[in-house]
Amino acid sequence: MTAPASAPLAYRVALSDHARSDAQRAAILEGDLGFGRHFTDHMVAIQWDKAQGWHDAQVHAYGPLVLDPAAAVLHYGQEIFEGIKAYRHADGSVWTFRPDANGQRLQRSAARLTLPQLPVAEFTESLRQLIAVDHAWVPSAPESSLYFRPFMIATEAFLGVRPAQAAAYFVIASPAGAYFARGVAPVSIWLSEDYARAAKGGTGAAKCGGNYAASLLPQQEAHAQGCSQVLFLDPVEGRYLEELGGMNVFLVHRDGRIVTPELSGSILEGITRASVLQLARDRGLVVEERKVSIDEWKQGVAAGDITEVFACGTAAVITPIGELKGRDFAVGDIHAPAGEVTMAIRRELTDIQYGRVPDRHGWMARLR
Ligand SMILES: *Cc1c(COP(=O)(O)O)cnc(C)c1O
Repeated sequence: MTAPASAPLAYRVALSDHARSDAQRAAILEGDLGFGRHFTDHMVAIQWDKAQGWHDAQVHAYGPLVLDPAAAVLHYGQEIFEGIKAYRHADGSVWTFRPDANGQRLQRSAARLTLPQLPVAEFTESLRQLIAVDHAWVPSAPESSLYFRPFMIATEAFLGVRPAQAAAYFVIASPAGAYFARGVAPVSIWLSEDYARAAKGGTGAAKCGGNYAASLLPQQEAHAQGCSQVLFLDPVEGRYLEELGGMNVFLVHRDGRIVTPELSGSILEGITRASVLQLARDRGLVVEERKVSIDEWKQGVAAGDITEVFACGTAAVITPIGELKGRDFAVGDIHAPAGEVTMAIRRELTDIQYGRVPDRHGWMARLR
């Protein structure tokens, strides 16, 4: 029997028989968490196939997946993912930030990768289901969070090249420490002149693993140059800013304008980006979404017209960019302190996320 597509999925919950003890969990949460290194005791799994639609929703012990070696994801990279956090507020409650936006983006990514669309309400429900059993894993240290990694893969065992007729959606969660453990410090960025992150008409606007696979080599080049991240330019002219490997970018002008590259089809539309645009408007800054050339950055910083540059994304929230380096140039000053506008917006965004100021835009959703 198949349930109507709109019916909420009924979850089967099977608690882990090897969950960590309170003491073991506390030792992990109080240690150096880093990012993406520890995982909670449970995970969500939901199956999809063409005949039944979404079905078999489960919360079960965190553990390895069993996949047929012919599963489409392993051959043609049919995979998408999301990144969203749970925040513990001072009263112990657990909240997340704009889950509808992440759920809608997962649907857009699914459409591009011909994967099935999970209803947005089911996306948020999947986070709630995991928090119901693993809420003790939401850390409470300043700027710490529980990072959710929802993802979807094509599971059909078939080597023909066409959209898979079976898929699975999962959510795992990883407690994360403050991204900047020793205070927010500006980073150095490497301009990738040989590689693009995404092609015109390609998958750049979808959050899919393949985009990240393509960014690893340029990212390695950035590290070899002493930089922590790489900046990509547009794939057609190699002239206009796109974004970093996993963060959007903003330039703050001395005259009160804040500029970010317009969505080009090959830029990933960050939810942090959209939120920064709103908070910037709220503070009376003039917001510009348009083409931004690399020369505008170089010349603007050199002339003092661009006073701050930052990157933003869920994992690090807002990262000040101190310096941009390329094969034959360097602009900015890595030793200068983070900019005022950057830090004010960062503070306001985290204050909303951690419940320290009123949520005037209705961005927060309670998970527990
Ligand atoms: C996820 C991601 C971002 C940031 O998106 P947020 O929703 O703000 O976390 C930016 N660029 C890329 C390529 C991404 O994958």
